Amino acid sequence: MAASKIARDQVVSIEFELHDREGSLIDSSENGPLSYVHGEEQILPGLERALDGQEVGYEVHLEVPPEDGFGQRDDRLVFQVPRDRFEFEPTAGQVLQAESPDGMSAPFQVVKVAEDAVTLDGNHPMAGKHLVFDVKVIGVRDATAEELAHGHAHDGDGHHHN
Ligand code: ZN
Repeated sequence: MAASKIARDQVVSIEFELHDREGSLIDSSENGPLSYVHGEEQILPGLERALDGQEVGYEVHLEVPPEDGFGQRDDRLVFQVPRDRFEFEPTAGQVLQAESPDGMSAPFQVVKVAEDAVTLDGNHPMAGKHLVFDVKVIGVRDATAEELAHGHAHDGDGHHHN
């Protein structure tokens, strides 16, 4: 059987390291490879394109500027909420689901807690970052019917439904 080439609806497993442009490690697969369903936009489009048509053993170094990654930071997404609007004790670093001004539920990170105000940041944690990926393909297989129905792979870091 010919080696599988990465195409839509294949489950691809990769080992990766992600650094910022300054060389700081942002994320990696040290706790286990990442598996995703190709073509489901589970990974950055530029990375998905780079892996398309490749096979096990393929290695790629890919630099992704913010505009092709998680976007530029938007200062309008950083705002203060009166402390008494919280029914619990917020702590810096905590991520909350909050309603944005346009009525969408979105994650906001608590960046500062002062006596009378809490500062929230709705930017993606990787917004504004120039991302440097080093990726190695370690597995390619057909997705199961269940994985296709769910739109995600059922190996790697387990089965989450959310
Ligand atoms: Zn599932």
